[in-house]
Amino acid sequence: MTNAWDDRKKAIENEYFHRQEQKLIDQMKQEAEDTLIKTHCHNHCPKCGETLEPMTFRAVPLDRCSGCGGVWLGPNDLKTLAEKDHRTWFDHWFRREQTDPTEEEL
Ligand SMILES: [Zn+2]
Repeated sequence: MTNAWDDRKKAIENEYFHRQEQKLIDQMKQEAEDTLIKTHCHNHCPKCGETLEPMTFRAVPLDRCSGCGGVWLGPNDLKTLAEKDHRTWFDHWFRREQTDPTEEEL
C-alpha cells in the first residue's frame, strides 16, 4: 500500500525540480536569443539589414545605413540636434513633442 504523504512529498519535489529546470531553460533561451540578436543585428540597419556607417551631422555622431540611407540616432541625439537648431521649426517641433498634450493647445 502506498503512503499518501510520501506520494505528496514526491509530487512537491518533482514540481520544484520541474520549475527549476524550466527557469534554467528559459534563461538559456533568452541568452541564446540575445547572442543571435547581437551577432546578426549589431551595427546593422533595423529596416533593411545593411551595415551602418558612422557619420557626423552638426558635430553630432550618427549612424547612416549604407543600403537605404536611413539615419539612426542615439538616445540624446535628437534633443542635441534640436537644441543646435535653436528657434527653428525643428526645435519648436521637438519641444512640442515633449510637452504635455493637454498644454499643446495653449
Ligand atoms: Zn537600411
